[in-house]
Amino acid sequence: MNLVWHRADLRTHDNPALAAALQSGPAVGLVVLDPNILSRTSARRRAWFYRNVAALREAYARRGGNLLVRFGLPWEVLPRVVAELEVRRVFAVRNSTPYARFRDRKVEEALAGRVAWFHGQYVQEPGEIVKPGGGPYTVFTPYARRWWAAPEVTLYEAPERFPSVALPPGYALGSVPDEPSDVPLPPAGEEAALRALEAFVSERLPLYHQARDRLDGSGVSRLSCYFTLGVLSPRLAVQQAMRVGGEGARKWVGELAWRDFSGDLLHNFPLMAHSAFDPRWDALPWVDDAEIFGAWLEGRTGIPAVDAGMRELRATGFLSNRARMVVAQFAVKLALLPWQKCERAFRDLLLDGDNASNLQGWQWSGGLGVDAAPYFRVFNPVTQAQTHDPSGAWLRRWVPESWGRPEPYGRPVLDLEAARRRYLEVARRIGQASPQTRT
Ligand SMILES: Cc1cc2nc3c(=O)[nH]c(=O)nc-3n(C[C@H](O)[C@H](O)[C@H](O)COP(=O)(O)OP(=O)(O)OC[C@H]3O[C@@H](n4cnc5c(N)ncnc54)[C@H](O)[C@@H]3O)c2cc1C
Repeated sequence: MNLVWHRADLRTHDNPALAAALQSGPAVGLVVLDPNILSRTSARRRAWFYRNVAALREAYARRGGNLLVRFGLPWEVLPRVVAELEVRRVFAVRNSTPYARFRDRKVEEALAGRVAWFHGQYVQEPGEIVKPGGGPYTVFTPYARRWWAAPEVTLYEAPERFPSVALPPGYALGSVPDEPSDVPLPPAGEEAALRALEAFVSERLPLYHQARDRLDGSGVSRLSCYFTLGVLSPRLAVQQAMRVGGEGARKWVGELAWRDFSGDLLHNFPLMAHSAFDPRWDALPWVDDAEIFGAWLEGRTGIPAVDAGMRELRATGFLSNRARMVVAQFAVKLALLPWQKCERAFRDLLLDGDNASNLQGWQWSGGLGVDAAPYFRVFNPVTQAQTHDPSGAWLRRWVPESWGRPEPYGRPVLDLEAARRRYLEVARRIGQASPQTRT
């Protein structure tokens, strides 16, 4: 019997590991509830994960298959299950965050190389798109040029039926925890994700390029929470969007290239998890002010666009990309809050929280050396709201006390102009030195 170890690929459609396992014989699925991950994340994110594991189990069961759920360290759990079920081979879709690589090395050692690895978390896997002379890209535009030129990937159909397997009598499938969430969760599982993709592609994709920057997020897909757990295949999403074609589709698929680029950066530069991508920016004079951090996190800075963003995120687990950039730039460039602390707290609030994309988003917004983002471009949260929420409806919804006006209200924690000048003064000094890349 084969074992399919699902991690960030909680789906049966376009799952190369599942397809290969079933091609070579009967298979059972396994999800390991890893305390190293689960104890370090928020209740809402655990709840979202569990709901999607439960949905995957149902997807298996509908096709006559079994999905096991076990709690523990993967390098201890897998050898146990392999021995209990006399598993021939383990099949898994590769992940490439620093912890995932450490974990997978340990599992490989424990299983003496009996693991077959497959691509499928990204459209183009981390490490695959390299410069003509070899070596990773650090700037998005040339990366994206090669990304678009890469050969199309083959997609895999979901299996119709799982061949029946006889589990030992009384062998427990293991239960999926049902943790409550402090925010309403979207419908879980791949069927819901596929329906959401279909609705987005047919209704909003054609105008995506015009509507994507709205602060209220009304022009975007909101599919990120499915991509993060691999409930939806990004490869299938690209294929569906390109069938529609046009400017909206090209722009949207370009965002999935950003997702791949984020994975590629973290794969090649794991130190970006802790330090500025360009080490010069570690020298910014960070201000670890608990009061300002708390005001930022809870959406009570007195700056309407920042407060609307953080309140929406706390209340829903989602925020548009434009609003993410506004709140992150405020935290890093204007408040000079230690970016690592903000990145971590922000990720815990996101249902789509993802190491690679969040680190890239924070480092890009903070001008810390990712891509060619210029440090001297400082978003003004007032003009951002005027441009991307012109009616003030988004501000009114989340910060009623602003009356929908973008100017600071009450007693703001920072004077925006003074904060901008403070940042630019030091940033200019740091920015004059030649750029560096951490390896
Ligand atoms: C500070 C900051 C933090 C972020 N943290 C995360 C995170 O933890 N997880 C996450 O998935 N995205 C993150 N992003 C990227 C982006 O904001 C979200 O992916 C996007 O807002 C999700 O909404 P959507 O699904 O409607 O996106 P759409 O606009 O519909 O885009 C489609 C898909 O493309 C990908 N994508 C879009 N924009 C980006 C981007 N800038 N970088 C990488 N991938 C992108 C996502 O998978 C998204 O679902 C962050 C961006 C910033 C500025």
